[in-house]
Amino acid sequence: MRKIVAIYPGSFDPPTNGHLDLIERGSQIFDELVVAILRNPEKEALFTLGERRRMLEALTRPWPNVRVDTFTGLLVDYAVGQKAQVVLRGIRAISDYEYELQMALMNRKLQPQLETVFMMPAEAYSYLSSRLVKEVAHLGGDVRELVPPLVAGQLKQRMRRVQAASFRPSAPGSGEAMNSARRGRADGRGRPGQRGWRADRRAEARQALGTKKK
Ligand code: ADP
Repeated sequence: MRKIVAIYPGSFDPPTNGHLDLIERGSQIFDELVVAILRNPEKEALFTLGERRRMLEALTRPWPNVRVDTFTGLLVDYAVGQKAQVVLRGIRAISDYEYELQMALMNRKLQPQLETVFMMPAEAYSYLSSRLVKEVAHLGGDVRELVPPLVAGQLKQRMRRVQAASFRPSAPGSGEAMNSARRGRADGRGRPGQRGWRADRRAEARQALGTKKK
């Protein structure tokens, strides 16, 4: 009988319990499941590709038919290279549906042999996203029920580093220092209450988190 190989693509920045729920479900249905981390130079990530790969490799160890890989470029080309017949995607809420439908239909146009299969996570994970987990962790919230312990530990360390970096004075002469000299402070950060201070701090947090301006 033909072996069914499925690709589960995503950013996984960081992997959450929702991702793992889907990986477990996928591993029970497909003969082989490839968790494929997208290498996207345009999207700033909190964790490097290598860090995400190592986390996912450790987390998927219980499932022998799951392996972790990275890819760049078109998903359909990668899937053909892996001899995969299926792309696995998660649907959490109606809000995911429109985007996922467009992607699935575009992928079908590009590669008609490749089928997209949607799975729903357990209800408890239907509100969970990597972006929200990063926001909660950044604000000091408890993420232990949202991500595996390995990820919770790494998030804690990363947030400490991000916060320490965001309160370190910038180098004299740097663009940031020059801007704030105009605003009246040598460390490049202006003063609370000054025009632009709040927006600057928000921009720093967004940059540190790898999130885009909404
Ligand atoms: P992307 O950058 O493509 O949104 P993600 O890493 O956020 O990648 O997610 C990869 C896949 O996992 C997507 O199909 C997404 O819908 C799915 N996913 C993410 N979080 C969950 C969750 N809590 N439950 C089910 N599926 C999820």
